Amino acid sequence: MDKLLDCVVIGGGPAGLSASINLVNRNKDILLLSLSTNYLKKAQRVDNYLGFYNISGTDLMNKFLEHAEKMNVNIKYGRVLNIYKFEDYFMVNFQNEIIKTKSIILALGIVKNVLIENEDTFLGKGVSYCATCDGMLYKNKTVAITGNSSDIVNEANFLKSIGCKVYFVSTIKPDDLDQNIEFVNGVIKKINGNLKIENIVLNTGKVIDIDGLFILRNAISANTLLKDLKIENGIIDTNRNLETNIKGVYACGDCTGEPFQISKAVGEGLISALNCVKYIDNLKEV
Ligand SMILES: Cc1cc2nc3c(=O)[nH]c(=O)nc-3n(C[C@H](O)[C@H](O)[C@H](O)COP(=O)(O)OP(=O)(O)OC[C@H]3O[C@@H](n4cnc5c(N)ncnc54)[C@H](O)[C@@H]3O)c2cc1C
Repeated sequence: MDKLLDCVVIGGGPAGLSASINLVNRNKDILLLSLSTNYLKKAQRVDNYLGFYNISGTDLMNKFLEHAEKMNVNIKYGRVLNIYKFEDYFMVNFQNEIIKTKSIILALGIVKNVLIENEDTFLGKGVSYCATCDGMLYKNKTVAITGNSSDIVNEANFLKSIGCKVYFVSTIKPDDLDQNIEFVNGVIKKINGNLKIENIVLNTGKVIDIDGLFILRNAISANTLLKDLKIENGIIDTNRNLETNIKGVYACGDCTGEPFQISKAVGEGLISALNCVKYIDNLKEV
């Protein structure tokens, strides 16, 4: 944890990979942290990314990743839970591993989820975004898990393995779910409680009493990640240099707004990296 990186890039889509290769190209000591889920992989066919006519989203992503690997970009897969700002450095909570860095580039993509009613209120009071991080707090207790993240079944099975009574709330039952986990068909609409979470209400009207709720989404909204970050209508506010309102924090790609396109994401990855390099080089030693 003591090591101070030059930059942590969060999000391994086209924007984050572009930012990373440009930082490495300028000899910066960086880490790219990302979930392995990516929207581009869903594109059946891409025709408008220069040099790659008629390529599938998966093939294009694989080419981007191969490029980053050849340039020795250090990538770690998992979920960033929080970023804490100190005077001239940041602490990144990466699934409870704390990483210290001089600067941050947010390349989070678009968070398409609508928050559950009262999710913000009960965050840290029963609501968690990571079962393997916070699960032990709920050992032998009753919990629910919901979300669209690719690691959700592993996380649910982990909760079961530590003695939790687990409700898996979704409209689709995954094949590999532990048979001792109770599948509940539905969507969580509301979280109720007082000082702590007490129950959840589903769209079906069903109420489930729980001690903890794990929400496993592909992405966490940027203002949940970093307090005081300026966001308007879900889009991170940046200037032409892709600086956010927080010194040392840059943003690029879909998370900075339309057009939601690969070329824009890759271009912004470069611009944010170049400006971030200037910022790092101007910093005093900390
Ligand atoms: C079906 C489909 C078809 C498309 N077709 C085209 C096309 O033909 N041409 C075109 O130009 N564009 C197309 N797009 C759009 C294109 O995919 C996006 O514009 C591009 O992927 C944006 O790149 P990005 O890096 O900004 O974000 P993303 O690709 O969304 O990457 C963001 C990454 O950040 C990760 N992340 C977010 N939060 C966290 C966190 N807290 N911790 C760790 N990781 C996190 C995500 O998991 C993801 O890997 C298409 C999109 C879709 C869905």
